[in-house]
Amino acid sequence: MSYSKVIIIGAGFGGINCAINLNKADADIYVMDRNNHHTFQPLLYQVATAALSPGNIAVPIREVLKNHKNTTVYLTNVEDIDKEKRQVIASSGERFDYDYLVVATGARHSYFGNPEWEKYAPGLKSLPDALRIRERLLLSFEIAERADSIRAAEKFLRFVIVGGGPTGVELAGAVAEIAHKTLFDNFRRIRPENAQIYLIESQPEILKTFHPKLGKKAHEYLEEMGVKVIPGTRVTNITEEGIFIDENFFPSFSIIWAAGNHASPLMEKLDTPLDRMKRAIVGPDLSIPDYPEVFVIGDSAHTEDEKGNPLPGIASVAVQQGQYIAKIIKKKIPPEKRKPFLYFDKGSMATIGRAKAVCSIHNFDFSGIFAWLSWSFIHVLYLISFRNRILVMLQWLFSYLTSSRNSRLILRSLYGRKDSIFHKVGDHFEDEGGNYHFSFDHDDPTDWSMGDMKFKTGEDSLKAEKNKETTEE
Ligand SMILES: Cc1cc2nc3c(=O)[nH]c(=O)nc-3n(C[C@H](O)[C@H](O)[C@H](O)COP(=O)(O)OP(=O)(O)OC[C@H]3O[C@@H](n4cnc5c(N)ncnc54)[C@H](O)[C@@H]3O)c2cc1C
Repeated sequence: MSYSKVIIIGAGFGGINCAINLNKADADIYVMDRNNHHTFQPLLYQVATAALSPGNIAVPIREVLKNHKNTTVYLTNVEDIDKEKRQVIASSGERFDYDYLVVATGARHSYFGNPEWEKYAPGLKSLPDALRIRERLLLSFEIAERADSIRAAEKFLRFVIVGGGPTGVELAGAVAEIAHKTLFDNFRRIRPENAQIYLIESQPEILKTFHPKLGKKAHEYLEEMGVKVIPGTRVTNITEEGIFIDENFFPSFSIIWAAGNHASPLMEKLDTPLDRMKRAIVGPDLSIPDYPEVFVIGDSAHTEDEKGNPLPGIASVAVQQGQYIAKIIKKKIPPEKRKPFLYFDKGSMATIGRAKAVCSIHNFDFSGIFAWLSWSFIHVLYLISFRNRILVMLQWLFSYLTSSRNSRLILRSLYGRKDSIFHKVGDHFEDEGGNYHFSFDHDDPTDWSMGDMKFKTGEDSLKAEKNKETTEE
């Protein structure tokens, strides 16, 4: 019996499905990931907005593959690939030989040539990202409650989400639910329900990959929920103070980036043709040119459908590609006999809030409660562990009935301890990287009321902010 050595880098949707389908293959499988868990990214926004906790949407890779006797899991960061020597190089310097290599390292956010924006506008790709965003969202309300004036509080009660794709739409709806429902009655000086939530999109309408009528419906839903959707506008700068949209300035402490993606940096190490999103351009069998034993799948790969349109960066593409590669490796199919990868499109969906979603399945476009139920059912079904399916369903049911969010936890203290979020520097507080500063100026913080707090809204407010003529203090 001839054993092959297969290395799979990345245990996301593509990698884990490839590994699962290689069970009992005539091969030694090594799954390498820098994290010890597989993350169900479609529900990350629910962790970021405190509806679910990290353990609900992630599962240890070892647990998933524990019964696969031919599979070894390595917790390691892969830094380079030597295609000539057929070796994978870890950050530790270790080298691992392979006969087949599957690269499934996903994507990261891209800031259109402005990487410095990341510290003010984090993106959402991993559990640490989600927890950082959750901390920032919840902190905003806490700092606003202690602010010196309505003007100062406004900055902390203005949430800006950049990017009107499914992730941006889902985040905007969830932030609106937290502010307008969950936190209602939780504070004494501020009124969370007066928080302003903006969704910024450079295209003329949100959800541009969906049928235009679904984009319009999602826009309507968001406006009903109190989100100000601003399509056809571009972010021109992001600073500690806030965000510039075209020429308008929005002071904001909470900006979330959901606008652009780049393939994992490992693609640049592969020394193979890349597209403008830095994805490896792979052949019909998902291998890279001249190296039929090296496959790239999922969000790191540029693949096309029969009409030559690039396949979207979604979970079902990565899953089907992982399964396809497993078949090639299991049967050791030589390059000339491999049938091209064909994607079976199962449709797309996005949820906006309670009983509000949009779905497009095989030219059947629908919205409302039926779409929301379909979204919920599909997402629970695709979660990897049975335990998580049950837990997520129970939490959703509870949240639906009570509008509560169970994971509203800020895990670090605001200030005053070594591991606090902010540290006192002179007369103000500053975060670890020195990116954010704030101070509480009042002598007696209880001697001040926001009882009649009323925000300006819409375009007037933008103009006013631009001219820094806020007048309602
Ligand atoms: C917030 C969000 C919401 C989404 N919603 C949906 C949705 O509703 N429906 C849908 O179909 N799709 C959705 N997607 C897209 C979907 O999640 C991705 O298309 C899918 O995860 C891609 O799978 P992948 O295997 O290519 O990469 P990933 O799932 O991203 O997995 C990559 C893995 O590689 C590991 N890795 C990366 N670099 C290295 C390295 N150098 N060394 C070791 N390990 C490494 C990572 O730790 C990770 O485990 C969403 C994505 C996000 C971020």
